[in-house]
Amino acid sequence: MIVSGKAYDFDKRRAKQASADGYIIKRVKPATFAAGVRDIVNACFSVNYWGVLGTLPVPRHNSLRYGGNTSCVTMTFPNERTLIFDAGTGIKTLSDSIMKDHGGKLSAHIFISHPHWDHINEFPFFAPFCVPGNKFKVVGAKHGERTTEDLISAQMDDVFFPILVTDMGASISFQDIGEETITIDDNIVIETMLLSHIENCVGFRVTFDGKSVCSVTDNELYTQNQDFRTNRTRRNSSISSKALKF
Ligand SMILES: [Zn+2]
Repeated sequence: MIVSGKAYDFDKRRAKQASADGYIIKRVKPATFAAGVRDIVNACFSVNYWGVLGTLPVPRHNSLRYGGNTSCVTMTFPNERTLIFDAGTGIKTLSDSIMKDHGGKLSAHIFISHPHWDHINEFPFFAPFCVPGNKFKVVGAKHGERTTEDLISAQMDDVFFPILVTDMGASISFQDIGEETITIDDNIVIETMLLSHIENCVGFRVTFDGKSVCSVTDNELYTQNQDFRTNRTRRNSSISSKALKF
């Protein structure tokens, strides 16, 4: 944040070009300064990586730098609005943080890129699901006739886990999505895109106040002459990109 006696638009533009988030003109009263800082903070969102590995968690010394957990990322916006991307083992670390620092209180959208184990298998251990009053919407793509609710619930039926998803204390709803744009609270925009990965794997581009961050996982690179959808459908010919457009 730049605090300056220069009040010309030229100076403000220069500050912005130099990556300043805000520009306050001197002399400034403490209350005005505090309000300016608050405006800047309210226009920002943060990204936290709770798990970044694929396939398997690897709790060993040489994975300390990036952590040994599988996929889970959060984006946190003003007024404690939270988006969670994937529920690999990283979501347990997030869970511990929410239970410790927020008394377990959380309401959030949870976007599931695809239901491979490393993206969903710690879902049942997310303790805020057991806190009454919390609300969650779990968002993902259908796989054939299997809805997101089917896919998440299946790993928690009583053969695999002692608590059904319907028995957890929080309110949990599900939404199936395709390639589309979702808007939350009028100012968080999520654009989805089918990725090059077996079955329906979705990437997310999140835009807030002119800034964008993408959560893209498991995307498989392809050669210059290869269409990525062809690459994908070649691996599973029963699914076309149109399958995602409901
Ligand atoms: Zn995968």
